Amino acid sequence: MHKRRVVCAAALLIVLPLLIKAQTPPVDISFTVAMPRPHTHLLEVDVAIKRTVNGPQEEQLVMPVWTPGSYLVREFARHVQDFAATDAAGQPLKWEKTNKDTWRITTNGTASWHARYRVYANELSVRTSELNSGHAFWNNANILMYLDGFLQSPSTVRVLAPDVWKVATGLPAVLGQKNTFRAANFDILYDSPFEVSNFKTLMFNVKGVAHRIVIDGEGNYDPERMRRDVQKIVETEVELMGGEVPYHDYTFILHLRGGGGLEHLNSCALGYPRFGFRISEGDRATSAAPNTTDAPERDYRGFLSLVSHEFFHLWNVKRIRPDALGPFDYTQENYTRMLWVAEGITDYYADIALRRAGLISESDYLSAQARAMQTLQNTPGRLVQSAEESSFDSWIKYYRQDENSVNSQISYYEKGALLGLLLDLEIRKRSAGAKSLDDVMRYLYTEYFKKNRNYGPVDFQKACELMAGGGLEEFFSRFVHGKQELDYNAALNAAGLRLEKIAPNTSVRASDRIFFGADLTQAGDRLMVERVYAGSPAYEQGLNFGDQIVALDNLRVTRDFFNERLAEKKPGDLINLTIFRFDDLSTLLIKLGPGREGTFRIVPLTSQTEVQKKIYRDWLRTT
Ligand SMILES: [Zn+2]
Repeated sequence: MHKRRVVCAAALLIVLPLLIKAQTPPVDISFTVAMPRPHTHLLEVDVAIKRTVNGPQEEQLVMPVWTPGSYLVREFARHVQDFAATDAAGQPLKWEKTNKDTWRITTNGTASWHARYRVYANELSVRTSELNSGHAFWNNANILMYLDGFLQSPSTVRVLAPDVWKVATGLPAVLGQKNTFRAANFDILYDSPFEVSNFKTLMFNVKGVAHRIVIDGEGNYDPERMRRDVQKIVETEVELMGGEVPYHDYTFILHLRGGGGLEHLNSCALGYPRFGFRISEGDRATSAAPNTTDAPERDYRGFLSLVSHEFFHLWNVKRIRPDALGPFDYTQENYTRMLWVAEGITDYYADIALRRAGLISESDYLSAQARAMQTLQNTPGRLVQSAEESSFDSWIKYYRQDENSVNSQISYYEKGALLGLLLDLEIRKRSAGAKSLDDVMRYLYTEYFKKNRNYGPVDFQKACELMAGGGLEEFFSRFVHGKQELDYNAALNAAGLRLEKIAPNTSVRASDRIFFGADLTQAGDRLMVERVYAGSPAYEQGLNFGDQIVALDNLRVTRDFFNERLAEKKPGDLINLTIFRFDDLSTLLIKLGPGREGTFRIVPLTSQTEVQKKIYRDWLRTT
């Protein structure tokens, strides 16, 4: 809670020393992270607790079970080994574990004591940790325990690394102490990953603020182009959010292995394939055809999209915080119904920012939106789970997907991004182009973050209604709380556009003309059913996940053979599948259905009003 009050300058002089005294931390917490034998993947952690007076008889150290931004309980304590505790003289202290993530140390009131342990770190992802002969990367929530009751306490982290390695983190350095960094509290500590290696660094400034891209690994990227384009993204998003740079410096940690991104307060961690930076000039994706294996998402543009998403998070979720997301409870799930905003609208702005920065064309942008609409419409789960339910259950559903997920869930990223598009165009339409979702995001930043408040579902809806100049109850009850089909054309009309569906029977692609309804995967010489779509011919006529298809119309099959034969069929044709279900051989007759909705494409209306033209220009910033 943050109460505002007016204090005159003279009063401040008196009050300030008292405040400082009252806020003096009762305990000094300093971590040392060492890596004397990198090939063992063991990070060695020493936590030193110091007081000027005696402490309690017992104290507890707790290892977080999750790391913010990745909504799954991951039980980081499972990688802890060799725990020991000693007093200041090095005498062992008794300790015991009281649950999966808590160590209780019998300190007998001693003012200073240490705990030491090792953490096995051999999993590279943006939310885990890795130490090997090449580098160290860690999330502090994976390896640093907090002193129970002292999450608000400051702490320091000293890194002991091989001489040839440098240290990068968003935490400020402690002057005069080599490789030592300070965190004002544990939420900040846990929001500041470390990269320790012989990384390369690209630097640029935006509004006088230093930004660096720290790159571990070799790849086919063009450093000058990367620096220039990432800078454009930063400049565009800073402008979009009102022009203020809300940090002292910013670090992009980029691994040229793995994939994905994780947002932090003044840094982010990114993983991208080392040969994923191939640049394709011009407008590649001008049709609404689904991606081929040469998909734009896998080239340089996919990297820019990742940067654009993670960087936008520094406002949306790191500062514009939904209800439960900060300060955090590190011992259990933290529930929110707002991940469709925190992740989905971040995804919406990732694409918008690339367009406004001139890094993708209008047709690229619109094609990507058409593909996203088609993906959602091909997901049976859209009629089963709402955007809010998807957010709330991320811990047990989105992060734990199985063969039934497509039938029972939607992605709060995918649907959230489309809701962002629909809301943005709805607000622009209602306000005749005067306001937009950009105004909502800036409003949440000034009215919630700046006033040290988190927002909830009602606050978000009210902010949208304020900008739209009227109620949006119907929109939210149908599309956000509810599971009704999204009305793309009502939204696109605001910008003089419409969604066109190329009829399935005229499509050149066989998979559009007919509907089978299962995804197959080739596992060695076995053709396996990976997923069956609810309501499809395959689903209704008895094909199961896990079935092995051995023959189609009595001929031995591979996936390619299956697809080629299916392409020769038409709706209403029967196919005869020979399958193994567990160890039992049987046959299954399936009648193929007509293609689903066809291929989606966003096209201009034949005539557009001046307001529609203005909305389109403001939205996609053409000149
Ligand atoms: Zn995200």
